[in-house]
Amino acid sequence: TMDYGPAPESSKEALQWIADRGGIAGHFIGGKWGPLRDDFATNNPATGEKLAGVTKGTAEEVATAVTAARKAQSAWAKSGHKRARVLYAIARLMQKHSRLLAVMESLDNGKPIRESRDIDVPLAIRHFYHHAGFAQLMKSELPDREALGVCGQIIPWNFPLLMLAWKIAPALAMGNTVVLKPAEYTPMTAMVFAEICREAGVPAGVVNIVTGDGETGAALVEADVDKIAFTGSTEVGRKIREATAGSGKALSLELGGKSPYIVFDDADLDSAVEGLVDAIWFNQGQVCCAGSRLLVQEGIAERFYAKLKARMQGLRVGDPLDKCIDVGAIVDPVQLQQITAMVDANTEGEKFQTTAPEGCFYPPTLITGLHPASTLMQEEIFGPVLVATTFRTPAEAVEIANNTRYGLAASVWSENINLALDIAPKLACGIVWVNGTNMMDAAAGFGGVRESGFGREGGWEGLSGYTKPKGNAKTLSQITAFTSEDGTPADPLDRTA
Ligand code: NAD
Repeated sequence: TMDYGPAPESSKEALQWIADRGGIAGHFIGGKWGPLRDDFATNNPATGEKLAGVTKGTAEEVATAVTAARKAQSAWAKSGHKRARVLYAIARLMQKHSRLLAVMESLDNGKPIRESRDIDVPLAIRHFYHHAGFAQLMKSELPDREALGVCGQIIPWNFPLLMLAWKIAPALAMGNTVVLKPAEYTPMTAMVFAEICREAGVPAGVVNIVTGDGETGAALVEADVDKIAFTGSTEVGRKIREATAGSGKALSLELGGKSPYIVFDDADLDSAVEGLVDAIWFNQGQVCCAGSRLLVQEGIAERFYAKLKARMQGLRVGDPLDKCIDVGAIVDPVQLQQITAMVDANTEGEKFQTTAPEGCFYPPTLITGLHPASTLMQEEIFGPVLVATTFRTPAEAVEIANNTRYGLAASVWSENINLALDIAPKLACGIVWVNGTNMMDAAAGFGGVRESGFGREGGWEGLSGYTKPKGNAKTLSQITAFTSEDGTPADPLDRTA
């Protein structure tokens, strides 16, 4: 399965697109490209080949982008109708260029083309359609609220285009302008998006993209922006929280997770196995809300593990551009090294891998018989590695599920709906799926509690996070950002807390 041969036809268009732009991913500021410098490389993880040079944004360049965004903001905030028109145009053009976007995403990130084509790109487009509608409705539905101003947005590499959509669509809908920094490993779809903005008639300065690494991100946090919206690791989230404390900047943090996947003995086991394929092997497990901790009721554990292993054998690992592939490449050798080191350091339980790790490919992995307190049960691996333990009673399942510093998502599998609905509100997390997993929608708020962050993206909560009460400097995010002693947010909009 590792024979990925010559690059398929489909990558030609994307590679030509990059070549036509001088082989560089760089800034898009005030409606224009540049400066463009080859400061570091973004690679195709499947082959290790350089895809493009990337410009590392300086603090001055970030400031220029913020100034451009500031200049454009009040005109942009004036007409919800105009914003809706522009956002609909973006959505339609993303549809028109969906093949280029999907192939570019798989080339840059290593995710299977089936996923970028059927999940990442369509969900990103849906996000723009949804928020286009809300741009128009803002006046009637949120009459007492107005835009925050200029929003700095920093995103990770696991869903480059989708995270861009989650950030840009609601911000623009509510009349803000943005400066967005894509992750260093995956700037390419943001480049395609910038050109789509030009084609869609987005006024100059409304969408600015500044490429770079963590230093560029830190400069954006320090810049004269009204909000920082961050998705990424808990470690960086903590730094950003410290850096923005007392600054008056609104803040939302979408951080890491170690989400439990709880299977009761009356569950439909085949569906639960299939759900796990989505929960932990989708996007090579590089998913913040991945169902990465399997908790199985004792009586069915061995039977369930056997079914799961059989299913794992069927997962095809290899060339992300091959339509038959289930598991692609890990985004970068640095990330691969982290996964390998964590798994290799573990001495507990029993490890099952479908193949040996090879190149930038890490095989679907299951480690059973772990103690709930062991490192692999507690720390985010951010790879295709499922760790498992057993429980006896529903109460014990809840206890183990909540025994983590994170609180992003959870899946509960049972044919007894009373049991599922009894368990769900006891789980300390932002979202619970019953007999399902990884279900997202632009209309539903998404976000975590505890060290998984605070603030919501999507739905009404996401929209209000990009507004403030009219004529009042204090933003809703500031009011709701406080957390109680046990780390759960006192967010009045957070119905899960
Ligand atoms: P990361 O925190 O290293 O990087 C995320 C982004 O922050 C990148 O653009 C990076 O350049 C930038 N950055 C790095 N240091 C910075 C600093 N000091 N100041 C400002 N910006 C800085 O995370 P990653 O490795 O790219 O992403 C993986 C992590 O993201 C995982 O922990 C995952 O769980 C989390 N994640 C969370 C969600 C969510 O919605 N909760 C979604 C996706 C990923």
